[in-house]
Amino acid sequence: MAESSIEWTQQTWNPTVGCTKISQGCKFCYAEIMHKRLQGMGKVTGFEKYKADFKTVLPYRDHLDLPLKRKTPTTYFVNSMSDLFHEDLPLAYIVDVFRVMTFARWHTFQVLTKRADRLKTDGQLLFWPDNVWMGVSVESDKHLDRIDALRTTGAKIKFLSLEPLLGPLPNLNLAGIDWVIVGGESGLKPRPIRPEWVDDIRQQCEAAGVAFFFKQWGGTNKKAAGRLLNGRTYDEMPVNTVPA
Ligand code: SF4
Repeated sequence: MAESSIEWTQQTWNPTVGCTKISQGCKFCYAEIMHKRLQGMGKVTGFEKYKADFKTVLPYRDHLDLPLKRKTPTTYFVNSMSDLFHEDLPLAYIVDVFRVMTFARWHTFQVLTKRADRLKTDGQLLFWPDNVWMGVSVESDKHLDRIDALRTTGAKIKFLSLEPLLGPLPNLNLAGIDWVIVGGESGLKPRPIRPEWVDDIRQQCEAAGVAFFFKQWGGTNKKAAGRLLNGRTYDEMPVNTVPA
């Protein structure tokens, strides 16, 4: 587990490793870049899970029980380096991950996927404790069906990560959605984001009574670009568990 620099969580927990690209949002995948960096350290204790190629998707049982050992209530982003609903992961292992999250009821777990088809089918077979928030990534209007898949799950808190936002999303169906995160792409060749796209999403959230979190503009210097929209920050959370 590691402290996270992501603005909307506290720590990352990666009980699986590896992933493959599924849509345009994956083009400059942060997990792939980090995995390649860490691969060279595969022989070092604590980094063994990065030994294989990024495309080799595996359960990582050594990290499965880490949240149970931590007694301080913590908000975890689950699988910052992978996708829990990846087709190569056995359903039995996803069930094991959910079992840990259910036992560790003093923590909050934020699970995010682009594999909405599997979420829709296997999500029916999972037990959804209140401390598991489920989200889908939607980078453009080609993937609005992921939101419909999310709605079929039993997650009490459902959220959208609209990052990297690659186009306008003027017709979001926010029924049953509790939280929306928006962010622009960062890195060496970021695809552009427009303020009017972001503010339109903010207004849709306001109209629907959905918490809105603006993470970043991104760009080649994301620190300099900052995260102000309309001259202020938007840090709304779906329930009162704002990361310290
Ligand atoms: S689904 Fe996520 S982790 Fe997997 S390749 Fe795409 S961006 Fe990377």
